[in-house]
Amino acid sequence: MLGLMQDRPLLISQIIDFAAASYPDVEIVTRTVEGPIHRYGYKDAHKRAKQVAEALQGLGIKLGDRVGTIAWNTYRHFELYFGISGIGAVLHTINPRLAPEHVAYIANHAEDQIIFVDLNLLPVVEGVYEQLKTVKHIVVMTDRAHMPASSKIPNLLCYEELIAGKPGTLTWPEFDEKTASSLCYTSGTTGNPKGVLYSHRSTMIHSMMMASGPVLAIDPDTTILPVVPMFHANAWGLVYAGPFSGAKLVFPGFKLDGGSVYELLDKEQVTLSAGVPTVWLALLDYCAQNKVKMSAMKRTLIGGSAVPYAMIERFWKEHEVEVAQGWGMTEMSPLGTLTRFNRGERDLPDAERFAITAKQGRPVFGCEMKIIDDAGNDLPKDGSVSGNMVVRGPWIVKGYMKGDGKSQFLKDDWFMTGDVCKIEPDGSVVITDRSKDVIKSGGEWISSIDLENAAMGCPGVAEAAVIGVRHPKWDERPLLVIVRRPEANVTKDDLLNYLNGKVAKWWLPDDVQFIDAIPHGATGKILKTELRKRFEDYKLP
Ligand code: ADP
Repeated sequence: MLGLMQDRPLLISQIIDFAAASYPDVEIVTRTVEGPIHRYGYKDAHKRAKQVAEALQGLGIKLGDRVGTIAWNTYRHFELYFGISGIGAVLHTINPRLAPEHVAYIANHAEDQIIFVDLNLLPVVEGVYEQLKTVKHIVVMTDRAHMPASSKIPNLLCYEELIAGKPGTLTWPEFDEKTASSLCYTSGTTGNPKGVLYSHRSTMIHSMMMASGPVLAIDPDTTILPVVPMFHANAWGLVYAGPFSGAKLVFPGFKLDGGSVYELLDKEQVTLSAGVPTVWLALLDYCAQNKVKMSAMKRTLIGGSAVPYAMIERFWKEHEVEVAQGWGMTEMSPLGTLTRFNRGERDLPDAERFAITAKQGRPVFGCEMKIIDDAGNDLPKDGSVSGNMVVRGPWIVKGYMKGDGKSQFLKDDWFMTGDVCKIEPDGSVVITDRSKDVIKSGGEWISSIDLENAAMGCPGVAEAAVIGVRHPKWDERPLLVIVRRPEANVTKDDLLNYLNGKVAKWWLPDDVQFIDAIPHGATGKILKTELRKRFEDYKLP
Protein backbone atom coordinates (compact mmCIF):
# COMPACT_ATOMS: atom_id res chain seq x y z
CA MET A 1 0.00 0.00 0.00
CA LEU A 2 1.41 3.40 -0.94
CA GLY A 3 1.30 6.34 1.38
CA LEU A 4 -1.08 9.16 0.64
CA MET A 5 1.33 12.04 0.87
CA GLN A 6 2.20 14.53 -1.84
CA ASP A 7 5.04 13.96 -4.26
CA ARG A 8 6.06 17.60 -4.36
CA PRO A 9 9.51 17.62 -5.94
CA LEU A 10 12.54 18.78 -3.95
CA LEU A 11 14.03 21.57 -6.09
CA ILE A 12 17.03 23.81 -5.47
CA SER A 13 15.03 26.92 -6.45
CA GLN A 14 12.95 26.40 -3.31
CA ILE A 15 16.03 27.18 -1.21
CA ILE A 16 16.52 30.68 -2.56
CA ASP A 17 12.76 31.38 -2.56
CA PHE A 18 12.60 30.39 1.10
CA ALA A 19 15.72 32.36 2.09
CA ALA A 20 14.39 35.50 0.37
CA ALA A 21 10.99 35.21 2.03
CA SER A 22 12.19 34.20 5.50
CA TYR A 23 15.58 35.91 5.79
CA PRO A 24 15.42 38.79 3.28
CA ASP A 25 18.07 40.92 4.97
CA VAL A 26 20.44 38.23 6.19
CA GLU A 27 23.68 39.10 4.51
CA ILE A 28 25.93 37.56 1.92
CA VAL A 29 29.31 39.27 2.21
CA THR A 30 31.97 38.90 -0.49
CA ARG A 31 35.55 39.93 -0.91
CA THR A 32 35.15 40.62 -4.61
CA VAL A 33 37.63 39.72 -7.30
CA GLU A 34 37.73 43.44 -8.16
CA GLY A 35 38.78 44.20 -4.58
CA PRO A 36 36.09 45.89 -2.45
CA ILE A 37 33.81 44.11 -0.01
CA HIS A 38 30.29 43.63 -1.38
CA ARG A 39 27.27 42.93 0.79
CA TYR A 40 23.58 42.39 0.20
CA GLY A 41 20.71 40.28 1.55
CA TYR A 42 19.04 37.05 0.39
CA LYS A 43 16.20 39.10 -1.11
CA ASP A 44 18.63 40.88 -3.47
CA ALA A 45 20.43 37.62 -4.29
CA HIS A 46 17.08 36.02 -5.11
CA LYS A 47 16.13 38.73 -7.57
CA ARG A 48 19.52 38.66 -9.27
CA ALA A 49 19.47 34.82 -9.47
CA LYS A 50 16.19 35.16 -11.32
CA GLN A 51 17.70 37.81 -13.59
CA VAL A 52 20.50 35.33 -14.34
CA ALA A 53 17.88 32.69 -15.17
CA GLU A 54 16.04 35.08 -17.49
CA ALA A 55 19.30 36.03 -19.20
CA LEU A 56 20.19 32.35 -19.68
CA GLN A 57 16.81 31.67 -21.23
CA GLY A 58 17.45 34.65 -23.52
CA LEU A 59 20.68 32.95 -24.63
CA GLY A 60 18.71 29.82 -25.47
CA ILE A 61 19.56 27.71 -22.41
CA LYS A 62 17.00 24.97 -21.78
CA LEU A 63 16.36 22.16 -19.31
CA GLY A 64 19.38 19.84 -19.23
CA ASP A 65 21.85 22.17 -20.96
CA ARG A 66 25.22 22.43 -19.24
CA VAL A 67 26.53 25.83 -18.19
CA GLY A 68 30.10 26.05 -16.91
CA THR A 69 31.55 28.29 -14.21
CA ILE A 70 35.23 28.91 -13.52
CA ALA A 71 34.94 31.04 -10.46
CA TRP A 72 35.86 31.71 -6.83
CA ASN A 73 33.48 31.87 -3.90
CA THR A 74 31.59 35.11 -4.54
CA TYR A 75 28.04 36.45 -4.62
CA ARG A 76 27.92 36.25 -8.42
CA HIS A 77 28.86 32.58 -8.30
CA PHE A 78 26.11 32.14 -5.68
CA GLU A 79 23.59 33.73 -8.07
CA LEU A 80 24.70 31.34 -10.80
CA TYR A 81 24.22 28.36 -8.50
CA PHE A 82 20.53 29.18 -8.27
CA GLY A 83 19.98 30.87 -11.63
CA ILE A 84 21.37 27.93 -13.61
CA SER A 85 19.96 25.00 -11.59
CA GLY A 86 16.70 26.87 -10.97
CA ILE A 87 15.65 26.56 -14.62
CA GLY A 88 16.73 22.92 -14.83
CA ALA A 89 20.02 23.64 -16.57
CA VAL A 90 23.12 21.97 -15.14
CA LEU A 91 25.68 24.05 -13.23
CA HIS A 92 29.07 22.68 -14.22
CA THR A 93 31.65 23.99 -11.76
CA ILE A 94 35.15 23.79 -13.22
CA ASN A 95 38.24 23.77 -11.01
CA PRO A 96 40.56 26.52 -12.33
CA ARG A 97 43.57 24.76 -10.84
CA LEU A 98 43.19 21.76 -13.15
CA ALA A 99 45.77 21.31 -15.87
CA PRO A 100 44.64 23.16 -19.06
CA GLU A 101 44.19 19.91 -20.97
CA HIS A 102 41.79 18.74 -18.24
CA VAL A 103 39.83 22.01 -18.33
CA ALA A 104 39.35 21.61 -22.09
CA TYR A 105 38.60 17.90 -21.70
CA ILE A 106 35.84 18.37 -19.14
CA ALA A 107 34.21 21.38 -20.84
CA ASN A 108 33.99 19.31 -24.03
CA HIS A 109 32.96 16.12 -22.24
CA ALA A 110 30.19 18.01 -20.44
CA GLU A 111 29.26 19.82 -23.68
CA ASP A 112 29.10 23.18 -21.91
CA GLN A 113 27.11 25.79 -23.85
CA ILE A 114 28.23 28.86 -21.92
CA ILE A 115 31.11 29.44 -19.53
CA PHE A 116 30.96 32.09 -16.81
CA VAL A 117 34.42 33.08 -15.68
CA ASP A 118 35.88 35.33 -13.00
CA LEU A 119 37.92 38.27 -14.19
CA ASN A 120 41.28 36.97 -12.98
CA LEU A 121 40.56 33.45 -14.26
CA LEU A 122 39.94 34.56 -17.84
CA PRO A 123 43.49 33.43 -18.81
CA VAL A 124 42.40 29.85 -17.95
CA VAL A 125 39.70 30.05 -20.63
CA GLU A 126 41.89 31.96 -23.06
CA GLY A 127 44.47 29.18 -22.76
CA VAL A 128 42.02 26.52 -23.95
CA TYR A 129 39.57 28.58 -25.98
CA GLU A 130 40.53 27.11 -29.37
CA GLN A 131 39.93 23.59 -28.08
CA LEU A 132 36.40 24.25 -26.81
CA LYS A 133 33.92 22.50 -29.10
CA THR A 134 30.47 23.34 -27.78
CA VAL A 135 30.82 26.67 -25.97
CA LYS A 136 28.86 29.50 -27.61
CA HIS A 137 29.41 32.32 -25.13
CA ILE A 138 31.97 33.31 -22.54
CA VAL A 139 30.65 35.63 -19.84
CA VAL A 140 33.09 37.55 -17.63
CA MET A 141 31.70 37.87 -14.11
CA THR A 142 32.18 41.62 -13.64
CA ASP A 143 30.78 44.98 -14.65
CA ARG A 144 31.53 47.02 -17.78
CA ALA A 145 34.10 49.21 -16.03
CA HIS A 146 36.24 46.16 -15.18
CA MET A 147 35.90 44.29 -18.48
CA PRO A 148 39.29 43.50 -20.02
CA ALA A 149 40.37 45.98 -22.69
CA SER A 150 41.34 43.15 -25.00
CA SER A 151 41.14 39.38 -25.13
CA LYS A 152 41.91 36.71 -27.67
CA ILE A 153 38.31 35.53 -27.16
CA PRO A 154 35.94 37.40 -29.49
CA ASN A 155 32.63 38.81 -28.22
CA LEU A 156 33.15 38.41 -24.50
CA LEU A 157 29.92 39.07 -22.62
CA CYS A 158 29.75 41.11 -19.42
CA TYR A 159 27.82 39.60 -16.48
CA GLU A 160 26.31 42.82 -15.18
CA GLU A 161 25.21 43.90 -18.65
CA LEU A 162 23.73 40.50 -19.32
CA ILE A 163 21.40 40.66 -16.34
CA ALA A 164 20.76 44.42 -16.29
CA GLY A 165 17.20 45.28 -17.21
CA LYS A 166 15.93 41.73 -16.75
CA PRO A 167 12.79 41.86 -14.60
CA GLY A 168 13.84 39.19 -12.07
CA THR A 169 10.25 38.06 -11.75
CA LEU A 170 10.30 34.64 -13.40
CA THR A 171 8.46 31.80 -11.72
CA TRP A 172 10.86 28.89 -11.37
CA PRO A 173 9.76 25.98 -13.54
CA GLU A 174 8.77 22.70 -11.90
CA PHE A 175 10.30 19.45 -13.03
CA ASP A 176 11.20 16.01 -11.73
CA GLU A 177 13.42 16.19 -8.63
CA LYS A 178 15.71 13.58 -10.18
CA THR A 179 16.67 16.13 -12.85
CA ALA A 180 20.41 16.86 -12.94
CA SER A 181 21.29 20.06 -11.08
CA SER A 182 25.06 20.30 -11.08
CA LEU A 183 28.15 18.57 -12.33
CA CYS A 184 31.62 18.31 -10.81
CA TYR A 185 34.54 16.33 -12.22
CA THR A 186 36.92 14.43 -9.95
CA SER A 187 40.40 15.85 -10.09
CA GLY A 188 41.75 13.09 -12.31
CA THR A 189 44.98 12.27 -10.53
CA THR A 190 44.76 8.97 -12.42
CA GLY A 191 43.45 9.08 -15.99
CA ASN A 192 40.89 11.56 -17.25
CA PRO A 193 38.57 13.34 -14.81
CA LYS A 194 35.18 11.68 -14.34
CA GLY A 195 31.92 13.61 -14.12
CA VAL A 196 29.71 13.36 -11.03
CA LEU A 197 26.21 14.51 -11.90
CA TYR A 198 24.19 15.58 -8.87
CA SER A 199 20.40 15.79 -8.93
CA HIS A 200 18.04 18.26 -7.26
CA ARG A 201 16.88 15.46 -4.98
CA SER A 202 20.37 14.31 -3.97
CA THR A 203 21.48 17.90 -3.37
CA MET A 204 18.45 18.77 -1.26
CA ILE A 205 18.69 15.67 0.91
CA HIS A 206 22.44 16.11 1.36
CA SER A 207 22.10 19.79 2.30
CA MET A 208 19.32 19.15 4.77
CA MET A 209 21.50 16.54 6.43
CA MET A 210 24.47 18.90 6.41
CA ALA A 211 22.46 21.60 8.23
CA SER A 212 20.99 19.22 10.79
CA GLY A 213 21.79 19.24 14.51
CA PRO A 214 24.14 16.27 14.75
CA VAL A 215 26.08 17.41 11.69
CA LEU A 216 26.71 21.18 11.49
CA ALA A 217 23.70 22.52 13.41
CA ILE A 218 23.36 25.57 11.14
CA ASP A 219 20.84 28.21 12.24
CA PRO A 220 20.26 31.99 11.97
CA ASP A 221 22.96 32.63 14.60
CA THR A 222 25.53 30.96 12.36
CA THR A 223 27.88 32.92 10.11
CA ILE A 224 29.59 30.62 7.63
CA LEU A 225 32.77 31.28 5.74
CA PRO A 226 33.23 28.47 3.22
CA VAL A 227 36.90 28.39 2.30
CA VAL A 228 36.20 25.16 0.48
CA PRO A 229 35.70 26.31 -3.09
CA MET A 230 32.36 26.43 -4.84
CA PHE A 231 34.10 24.65 -7.71
CA HIS A 232 34.71 21.61 -5.51
CA ALA A 233 31.69 19.46 -4.61
CA ASN A 234 29.41 22.49 -4.28
CA ALA A 235 31.44 23.90 -1.40
CA TRP A 236 30.46 20.78 0.53
CA GLY A 237 26.81 21.78 0.30
CA LEU A 238 27.18 24.91 2.46
CA VAL A 239 25.96 27.16 -0.34
CA TYR A 240 22.61 25.39 -0.06
CA ALA A 241 22.49 24.56 3.66
CA GLY A 242 23.32 28.14 4.69
CA PRO A 243 20.45 29.97 2.96
CA PHE A 244 17.56 27.73 4.03
CA SER A 245 18.88 27.78 7.60
CA GLY A 246 19.01 31.58 7.68
CA ALA A 247 22.80 31.69 8.14
CA LYS A 248 24.90 34.66 7.06
CA LEU A 249 27.40 33.75 4.33
CA VAL A 250 30.88 35.21 3.93
CA PHE A 251 32.66 34.53 0.65
CA PRO A 252 36.44 35.02 0.58
CA GLY A 253 36.89 35.43 -3.18
CA PHE A 254 40.34 34.37 -4.32
CA LYS A 255 42.41 35.59 -1.37
CA LEU A 256 42.92 32.52 0.79
CA ASP A 257 46.16 33.42 2.57
CA GLY A 258 46.12 33.40 6.38
CA GLY A 259 45.93 37.19 6.74
CA SER A 260 43.03 37.69 4.31
CA VAL A 261 40.99 34.83 5.76
CA TYR A 262 41.65 36.04 9.30
CA GLU A 263 40.51 39.56 8.47
CA LEU A 264 37.14 38.31 7.22
CA LEU A 265 36.71 35.87 10.11
CA ASP A 266 37.27 38.70 12.53
CA LYS A 267 35.39 41.57 10.87
CA GLU A 268 32.35 39.48 9.95
CA GLN A 269 32.36 37.52 13.22
CA VAL A 270 32.34 34.17 11.48
CA THR A 271 31.26 31.26 13.70
CA LEU A 272 31.70 28.30 11.34
CA SER A 273 34.15 27.63 8.58
CA ALA A 274 35.10 24.75 6.32
CA GLY A 275 38.10 23.81 4.23
CA VAL A 276 41.06 21.50 3.62
CA PRO A 277 43.93 21.19 6.13
CA THR A 278 46.50 23.21 4.12
CA VAL A 279 44.40 26.40 4.33
CA TRP A 280 44.08 26.08 8.09
CA LEU A 281 47.78 25.57 8.56
CA ALA A 282 48.37 28.96 6.94
CA LEU A 283 45.68 30.56 9.11
CA LEU A 284 46.99 29.08 12.37
CA ASP A 285 50.51 30.22 11.53
CA TYR A 286 49.30 33.72 10.66
CA CYS A 287 47.48 33.99 13.99
CA ALA A 288 50.49 32.71 15.94
CA GLN A 289 52.91 35.08 14.21
CA ASN A 290 50.64 38.10 14.67
CA LYS A 291 49.44 37.10 18.15
CA VAL A 292 45.78 37.33 17.23
CA LYS A 293 42.89 35.08 18.20
CA MET A 294 39.86 33.99 16.21
CA SER A 295 37.29 36.00 18.09
CA ALA A 296 33.92 34.51 17.18
CA MET A 297 34.77 31.15 15.61
CA LYS A 298 33.26 28.17 17.35
CA ARG A 299 33.72 25.29 14.94
CA THR A 300 35.50 24.45 11.75
CA LEU A 301 34.87 21.53 9.43
CA ILE A 302 38.11 20.18 8.03
CA GLY A 303 38.27 17.43 5.44
CA GLY A 304 39.52 16.43 2.05
CA SER A 305 42.68 14.97 3.61
CA ALA A 306 43.39 13.57 7.04
CA VAL A 307 43.45 16.22 9.77
CA PRO A 308 46.61 15.99 11.86
CA TYR A 309 46.12 15.65 15.64
CA ALA A 310 48.44 18.63 16.13
CA MET A 311 46.04 20.84 14.14
CA ILE A 312 43.03 19.79 16.22
CA GLU A 313 45.00 20.55 19.37
CA ARG A 314 46.18 23.96 18.14
CA PHE A 315 42.69 25.05 17.12
CA TRP A 316 41.37 24.26 20.57
CA LYS A 317 44.26 25.42 22.71
CA GLU A 318 45.05 28.60 20.77
CA HIS A 319 41.52 29.62 19.68
CA GLU A 320 38.93 27.50 21.52
CA VAL A 321 37.70 26.35 18.14
CA GLU A 322 36.32 22.83 17.92
CA VAL A 323 37.42 20.92 14.85
CA ALA A 324 35.01 18.55 13.16
CA GLN A 325 36.78 16.24 10.79
CA GLY A 326 34.79 15.23 7.72
CA TRP A 327 35.49 12.46 5.29
CA GLY A 328 33.83 12.23 1.94
CA MET A 329 34.41 12.62 -1.74
CA THR A 330 33.09 14.41 -4.80
CA GLU A 331 31.14 11.25 -5.60
CA MET A 332 29.33 11.54 -2.23
CA SER A 333 28.17 15.17 -2.54
CA PRO A 334 30.60 14.96 -0.51
CA LEU A 335 29.66 14.06 3.07
CA GLY A 336 30.13 10.52 4.39
CA THR A 337 31.38 10.70 7.95
CA LEU A 338 32.21 13.44 10.40
CA THR A 339 33.19 13.94 14.01
CA ARG A 340 29.92 13.36 15.76
CA PHE A 341 30.34 13.26 19.51
CA ASN A 342 28.08 10.88 21.39
CA ARG A 343 26.49 11.88 24.68
CA GLY A 344 29.16 12.69 27.24
CA GLU A 345 32.11 12.60 24.86
CA ARG A 346 32.44 16.39 24.80
CA ASP A 347 33.24 16.21 28.51
CA LEU A 348 36.20 13.91 28.01
CA PRO A 349 39.71 15.22 28.77
CA ASP A 350 41.26 17.16 25.87
CA ALA A 351 43.59 14.41 24.68
CA GLU A 352 40.78 11.84 24.46
CA ARG A 353 38.50 14.27 22.64
CA PHE A 354 41.22 15.20 20.16
CA ALA A 355 41.86 11.50 19.57
CA ILE A 356 38.20 11.05 18.59
CA THR A 357 38.42 14.02 16.22
CA ALA A 358 41.62 12.68 14.68
CA LYS A 359 39.60 9.74 13.36
CA GLN A 360 37.49 10.40 10.27
CA GLY A 361 34.26 10.43 12.26
CA ARG A 362 31.08 8.41 12.26
CA PRO A 363 28.72 8.02 9.31
CA VAL A 364 25.94 10.57 9.03
CA PHE A 365 22.40 9.28 8.86
CA GLY A 366 21.72 8.31 5.25
CA CYS A 367 25.19 7.11 4.35
CA GLU A 368 25.63 3.34 4.63
CA MET A 369 29.13 1.93 4.63
CA LYS A 370 31.04 -1.32 5.02
CA ILE A 371 34.46 -2.77 4.25
CA ILE A 372 35.15 -5.65 1.89
CA ASP A 373 38.21 -7.68 0.95
CA ASP A 374 39.60 -7.83 -2.59
CA ALA A 375 37.30 -10.77 -3.39
CA GLY A 376 34.23 -8.74 -2.35
CA ASN A 377 33.57 -10.48 1.00
CA ASP A 378 32.34 -8.40 3.92
CA LEU A 379 34.92 -7.77 6.63
CA PRO A 380 34.12 -7.26 10.34
CA LYS A 381 33.39 -3.77 11.68
CA ASP A 382 35.28 -4.42 14.89
CA GLY A 383 38.33 -2.25 14.26
CA SER A 384 40.55 -5.29 13.75
CA VAL A 385 41.08 -5.18 9.98
CA SER A 386 41.39 -2.67 7.17
CA GLY A 387 39.44 -3.19 3.99
CA ASN A 388 38.12 -1.49 0.87
CA MET A 389 35.43 0.94 1.86
CA VAL A 390 32.14 0.82 -0.07
CA VAL A 391 29.22 3.18 0.47
CA ARG A 392 25.65 3.75 -0.67
CA GLY A 393 22.92 6.29 -0.04
CA PRO A 394 20.64 8.86 -1.65
CA TRP A 395 23.43 11.40 -2.29
CA ILE A 396 26.00 8.90 -3.57
CA VAL A 397 26.89 8.53 -7.24
CA LYS A 398 25.37 5.61 -9.16
CA GLY A 399 27.36 6.10 -12.36
CA TYR A 400 29.73 8.66 -13.85
CA MET A 401 28.78 11.01 -16.68
CA LYS A 402 28.61 9.12 -20.00
CA GLY A 403 29.34 5.75 -18.39
CA ASP A 404 32.96 6.27 -17.33
CA GLY A 405 34.56 4.30 -14.47
CA LYS A 406 32.15 1.34 -14.49
CA SER A 407 34.34 -0.90 -12.33
CA GLN A 408 33.69 1.20 -9.23
CA PHE A 409 29.99 0.36 -9.19
CA LEU A 410 29.21 -2.94 -7.48
CA LYS A 411 25.93 -4.76 -7.11
CA ASP A 412 23.19 -3.52 -4.77
CA ASP A 413 24.27 0.11 -5.29
CA TRP A 414 27.58 -0.23 -3.42
CA PHE A 415 30.13 2.30 -4.66
CA MET A 416 33.82 1.47 -4.35
CA THR A 417 35.41 4.58 -2.80
CA GLY A 418 39.05 3.61 -3.42
CA ASP A 419 39.77 4.28 0.25
CA VAL A 420 41.06 1.72 2.70
CA CYS A 421 39.76 1.97 6.25
CA LYS A 422 38.89 0.29 9.52
CA ILE A 423 35.43 0.59 11.02
CA GLU A 424 35.37 0.41 14.83
CA PRO A 425 32.55 -1.11 16.88
CA ASP A 426 31.10 2.35 17.70
CA GLY A 427 30.97 3.19 13.98
CA SER A 428 34.11 5.35 13.95
CA VAL A 429 35.93 5.21 10.67
CA VAL A 430 39.70 5.35 10.47
CA ILE A 431 40.98 5.89 6.94
CA THR A 432 44.34 4.24 6.59
CA ASP A 433 44.98 5.11 2.95
CA ARG A 434 43.77 5.52 -0.56
CA SER A 435 44.04 2.05 -2.04
CA LYS A 436 46.70 3.25 -4.45
CA ASP A 437 48.79 4.92 -1.72
CA VAL A 438 48.87 2.12 0.82
CA ILE A 439 52.40 0.80 1.42
CA LYS A 440 52.67 -2.96 1.08
CA SER A 441 55.61 -4.17 3.12
CA GLY A 442 56.20 -7.91 3.27
CA GLY A 443 52.53 -8.58 2.52
CA GLU A 444 51.32 -6.30 5.34
CA TRP A 445 49.87 -2.83 4.95
CA ILE A 446 51.44 0.30 6.37
CA SER A 447 49.22 3.38 6.58
CA SER A 448 50.87 6.40 5.00
CA ILE A 449 48.23 8.63 6.62
CA ASP A 450 49.06 7.44 10.16
CA LEU A 451 52.74 8.04 9.59
CA GLU A 452 52.12 11.50 8.13
CA ASN A 453 49.90 12.47 11.03
CA ALA A 454 52.44 11.34 13.56
CA ALA A 455 55.29 13.16 11.78
CA MET A 456 53.23 16.39 11.62
CA GLY A 457 53.41 16.57 15.41
CA CYS A 458 57.22 16.73 15.43
CA PRO A 459 58.48 20.25 16.19
CA GLY A 460 59.99 21.94 13.13
CA VAL A 461 57.84 20.05 10.61
CA ALA A 462 55.69 22.14 8.27
CA GLU A 463 54.42 19.31 6.11
CA ALA A 464 54.92 15.56 5.88
CA ALA A 465 54.20 12.97 3.21
CA VAL A 466 54.90 9.27 3.13
CA ILE A 467 55.25 7.15 0.02
CA GLY A 468 56.23 3.55 -0.59
CA VAL A 469 59.55 2.99 -2.33
CA ARG A 470 60.83 -0.24 -3.80
CA HIS A 471 62.67 -2.58 -1.48
CA PRO A 472 64.44 -5.80 -2.56
CA LYS A 473 63.27 -7.84 0.41
CA TRP A 474 60.04 -6.24 1.63
CA ASP A 475 58.67 -5.15 -1.73
CA GLU A 476 57.96 -1.64 -0.46
CA ARG A 477 59.12 0.39 2.50
CA PRO A 478 57.98 3.83 3.71
CA LEU A 479 59.97 6.94 2.83
CA LEU A 480 59.14 10.05 4.83
CA VAL A 481 59.33 13.32 2.92
CA ILE A 482 59.45 16.48 5.03
CA VAL A 483 59.16 20.21 4.46
CA ARG A 484 60.77 22.02 7.39
CA ARG A 485 59.25 25.11 8.98
CA PRO A 486 61.17 28.28 8.15
CA GLU A 487 64.32 28.41 10.25
CA ALA A 488 63.80 24.94 11.73
CA ASN A 489 66.64 22.45 11.43
CA VAL A 490 64.91 19.23 12.39
CA THR A 491 66.98 16.19 11.29
CA LYS A 492 66.33 12.63 10.20
CA ASP A 493 67.33 11.36 13.65
CA ASP A 494 64.98 13.85 15.35
CA LEU A 495 62.11 12.54 13.26
CA LEU A 496 62.88 8.86 13.75
CA ASN A 497 63.32 9.37 17.49
CA TYR A 498 60.05 11.30 17.61
CA LEU A 499 58.14 8.59 15.76
CA ASN A 500 59.64 5.79 17.81
CA GLY A 501 56.92 4.54 20.14
CA LYS A 502 54.17 6.43 18.31
CA VAL A 503 53.83 3.85 15.53
CA ALA A 504 54.59 0.14 15.26
CA LYS A 505 58.34 -0.43 15.05
CA TRP A 506 58.20 -2.09 11.63
CA TRP A 507 56.31 0.96 10.31
CA LEU A 508 59.20 3.33 11.06
CA PRO A 509 60.28 4.96 7.79
CA ASP A 510 63.49 3.61 6.31
CA ASP A 511 64.66 7.09 5.41
CA VAL A 512 63.72 10.75 5.64
CA GLN A 513 64.19 13.20 2.77
CA PHE A 514 63.88 16.98 3.13
CA ILE A 515 62.46 19.00 0.25
CA ASP A 516 61.41 22.64 -0.26
CA ALA A 517 57.78 22.06 -1.12
CA ILE A 518 55.41 19.15 -1.38
CA PRO A 519 53.37 19.14 -4.61
CA HIS A 520 49.60 19.64 -4.21
CA GLY A 521 46.82 18.78 -6.67
CA ALA A 522 43.92 20.93 -7.78
CA THR A 523 41.95 20.32 -4.60
CA GLY A 524 44.83 20.89 -2.19
CA LYS A 525 45.71 17.24 -1.60
CA ILE A 526 49.28 15.99 -1.62
CA LEU A 527 50.09 14.72 -5.10
CA LYS A 528 51.57 11.35 -4.22
CA THR A 529 51.86 10.49 -7.91
CA GLU A 530 54.28 13.41 -8.35
CA LEU A 531 56.24 12.46 -5.23
CA ARG A 532 56.49 8.86 -6.37
CA LYS A 533 57.78 10.05 -9.75
CA ARG A 534 60.32 12.27 -8.05
CA PHE A 535 61.67 9.42 -5.93
CA GLU A 536 61.35 6.78 -8.63
CA ASP A 537 65.06 6.01 -8.82
CA TYR A 538 65.66 6.59 -5.16
CA LYS A 539 67.59 3.83 -3.36
CA LEU A 540 67.00 3.29 0.33
CA PRO A 541 70.17 3.57 2.42
P1 ADP B 1 39.25 13.85 -5.74
O1 ADP B 1 38.67 14.57 -6.88
O2 ADP B 1 40.74 13.98 -5.53
O3 ADP B 1 38.74 12.45 -5.55
P2 ADP B 1 37.78 14.40 -3.45
O4 ADP B 1 37.68 15.60 -2.61
O5 ADP B 1 36.56 13.81 -3.96
O6 ADP B 1 38.71 14.75 -4.59
O7 ADP B 1 38.69 13.36 -2.71
C1 ADP B 1 38.13 12.39 -1.93
C2 ADP B 1 39.22 11.63 -1.22
O8 ADP B 1 39.92 12.47 -0.32
C3 ADP B 1 38.70 10.51 -0.38
O9 ADP B 1 38.43 9.37 -1.16
C4 ADP B 1 39.83 10.32 0.61
O10 ADP B 1 40.86 9.53 0.06
C5 ADP B 1 40.37 11.70 0.80
N1 ADP B 1 39.80 12.28 2.02
C6 ADP B 1 38.76 13.12 2.13
N2 ADP B 1 38.56 13.46 3.42
C7 ADP B 1 39.49 12.81 4.15
C8 ADP B 1 39.79 12.72 5.55
N3 ADP B 1 39.11 13.41 6.46
N4 ADP B 1 40.80 11.91 5.91
C9 ADP B 1 41.51 11.21 5.01
N5 ADP B 1 41.28 11.26 3.69
C10 ADP B 1 40.28 12.04 3.26
